[in-house]
Amino acid sequence: MIDLIKKYNVQTPRYTSYPTVPFWNNKIDNQIWLTELEKAIESFGGDGISIYIHLPYCESLCTYCACNTRITKNHLVELPYIKTVIKEWKNYLNFFNKKPLVNEVHLGGGTPTFFSPGNLDYLLDNILCDVTISKTKSFSFEAHPANTTTEHLKVLNKHGFDRVSFGIQDYSLKVQDAIHRFQTKEEVENIVNKARELGFNSINFDLVYGLPFQNLESMADTVNEVIRVKPDRVAFYSYAHVPWVKPGQRKFTEMDLPLGEDKRMLYELGKEIFLKNSYSEIGMDHFALNTDELFIAKGNNRLHRNFMGYTVAPSKILLGLGTSAVSDVYTAYAQNDKTVEGYLADINKAKFSIKKGHVLSTSNIERRKHILNIMCNLQTELSYEEIKTEEFKNILQSLKSFEQDALLVINENKITVTESGKPFLRNIAACFDEFISNKLISQNIFSSTV
Ligand code: SF4
Repeated sequence: MIDLIKKYNVQTPRYTSYPTVPFWNNKIDNQIWLTELEKAIESFGGDGISIYIHLPYCESLCTYCACNTRITKNHLVELPYIKTVIKEWKNYLNFFNKKPLVNEVHLGGGTPTFFSPGNLDYLLDNILCDVTISKTKSFSFEAHPANTTTEHLKVLNKHGFDRVSFGIQDYSLKVQDAIHRFQTKEEVENIVNKARELGFNSINFDLVYGLPFQNLESMADTVNEVIRVKPDRVAFYSYAHVPWVKPGQRKFTEMDLPLGEDKRMLYELGKEIFLKNSYSEIGMDHFALNTDELFIAKGNNRLHRNFMGYTVAPSKILLGLGTSAVSDVYTAYAQNDKTVEGYLADINKAKFSIKKGHVLSTSNIERRKHILNIMCNLQTELSYEEIKTEEFKNILQSLKSFEQDALLVINENKITVTESGKPFLRNIAACFDEFISNKLISQNIFSSTV
């Protein structure tokens, strides 16, 4: 294992999109984007859409944070922001010839629970009044255990939210101090109990391994405490150390971080405890009880991956609302202005705020299919036409090294990741990525695989 970690511990994307954001060609503007959206609504609108709403504010900065966030204690910012998101949504609604069917709504951030329950109520009243809600809907939000109130839960539940994802990260006080994010075991347990009482039937915990000062002992304590509260699923993320993008991460040094094999051992320890306690590993970095939809979807090959991570609602249209939100209409990606001011000004003047994006070529779409298959199902099948092309012969060649290391099996046109290949899913998926080259990887674009 140590040798494999050394060999494959290079910078690789997490593949929540393909092409990944640094390789978008950005030949897109509001007009090009809206044309792609119209085509998508015509082709896939009937299957339903997903909506992601980015709520960017947080009261204080967690130093490990890699999200697009705005730190403020001024809650007067809430209402103007929400009114602008509603305006953006109404502008999108004009493109549908009937009420869109909504499969999925996710509130992310920032901290959605920075916003008052009253303002969230106002936002959701205005978003959901013009839609038909799918019978199999999945409505979820991200929450900070330390500032989520019963009132927040009641308001969201009233609008059909029955999933909540609590950012726990780590229970050790030393780690919490280094990452400047605090929540006690009691706070977490109380809010989880309250959510369950109110009818939230899927509780997710986010944990992070690779944070400053984590060690095997503290990791075992954290994971055992998580097991005691028994969330339905756990996202066990690798800390992405990218201080060249997020200067907040310079509050600690690399000397404080568990790296390479030490970091991987933290994951392996957590994994061992989860597996012994009725959780199954799902895709990359996720664990779920066998009653959870993520587990069921994995069994039915219905797992999908998008900017929100793993999901069971594979809408081909994902509309991202709010600053920095990313939309995906299968043939194109688009991202809103990353600054709150730029976003507010654009929506109020020009109706949309597309600043970056990529219209996918046929080859991009083909390669994305294989990358998603690897990331979600741990296997993919090349068509006989693909196998004959130079492009795919080269891909098979680059997969040979993984086969020699017993990380995958190639059986004619079928590639299957083995149990020992799971830690290297990102590396294996990267073989299908035409934009990845050693030169680009050395430019500090992505976080390390391990
Ligand atoms: S980790 Fe979450 S709560 Fe902390 S600063 Fe980032 S977005 Fe805000």
